[in-house]
Amino acid sequence: MDNVSRQTFNEVMVPNYQPADLIPVRGAGSRFWDQQNREYVDFAGGIAVTSLGHCHPKLVAALNAQAQKLWHLSNVMTNEPALRLAKKLCEATFAERVFFCNSGAEANEAAFKVARKFGGRGRHVVVSAFGSFHGRTLAALAATGQPTKHEPFQPMPEGFRHVPYGDLDALAAAIDPSVTAVLIEPVQGEGGVVPAPPGYLEGIRALCDERGLLMIVDEVQTGFARTGRWFGFDHADVRPDVVCLAKAMGNGMPIGACWARREVAAVLQPGDHGSTYSGTPIATAAARATIAELRRIDAPALARLAGARLQRLLLSTPGVTDVRGAGLLLAAELDGRDTKPVAAACLERGLVVNNVTPTALRFAPPLTVSDDEIDEAVAIVKEVLA
Ligand code: PLP
Repeated sequence: MDNVSRQTFNEVMVPNYQPADLIPVRGAGSRFWDQQNREYVDFAGGIAVTSLGHCHPKLVAALNAQAQKLWHLSNVMTNEPALRLAKKLCEATFAERVFFCNSGAEANEAAFKVARKFGGRGRHVVVSAFGSFHGRTLAALAATGQPTKHEPFQPMPEGFRHVPYGDLDALAAAIDPSVTAVLIEPVQGEGGVVPAPPGYLEGIRALCDERGLLMIVDEVQTGFARTGRWFGFDHADVRPDVVCLAKAMGNGMPIGACWARREVAAVLQPGDHGSTYSGTPIATAAARATIAELRRIDAPALARLAGARLQRLLLSTPGVTDVRGAGLLLAAELDGRDTKPVAAACLERGLVVNNVTPTALRFAPPLTVSDDEIDEAVAIVKEVLA
């Protein structure tokens, strides 16, 4: 086999990422090993993706079984794993119709197209929040409330508007007859792990009902038990019209979904939307096994318990001034230190954490993380901050 190293990245890859120097080659549970066989404990979880850890034996078995049967068909035909997965989602939630895709950005793109057809000509604007993150495709980027990310790619696609997160009055003021939907994260993940203030999601639901708008919730980062409830909106008393999913849904197998109420989903007619890889047997089989295992282990309860321990230990760490988030999606605010060198120093000591903002570290370990692994991770953070 070809020898490859971090240097190879510079030689053959588009320079849109700045990956770490190490190259992981295998993983198991909360840990992975690099080319030099150095061990790391993974508290980034592929950014809230590997909720069951790396190479979970049940997922490996499900994937192997499907790999022997059928990988791909395209949407000229449907397939059993996709239908079983959609059925499971509809039975376990209030979803009535499901569309499968491959990523969070694609789930949001599907939601925008639903919203535009739902609104009709002249009523196409989606309002989202400053500080939000909804993906890197052009429309998802336009919905992302971070103007600095827009700048290099101006002009942005038309039809997106932003308001301060948590401010219902600003949202109400931004709604005019051109608006068709409100798009919101229950916890702003990339924005620094900022949970919605109490009453915010309920207020959005009421506004959407009053003005005839769709409430779209972006659960890409928060979905599937990450925050200690099955979905982020479960922390509030609301039912969104459209829900966007990805990340933990396939535990690393690329898959996303967008679910909606039946009448809302009905606006998409044959030919309106699609993807070659929408709901492939191989990806949906992986997702079905992932969700079955998350349910079997009562993943929300694990996230709450482990999250409470991690939060308590981080709060007692000198140099940490605040911890926010929910379940196992947490951010530790540091005492003014630049988090980039802190995260790099943690990595050198074998802990993967993500510097989500210049002042906060994000923790999103597998929901199956053990008490010992939490203690080990916090001990490394303590050592680095000391
Ligand atoms: N929405 C949210 C809330 C996210 O956190 C992300 C990714 O971090 C996305 C959408 C984009 O997902 P993807 O990178 O799979 O396109």
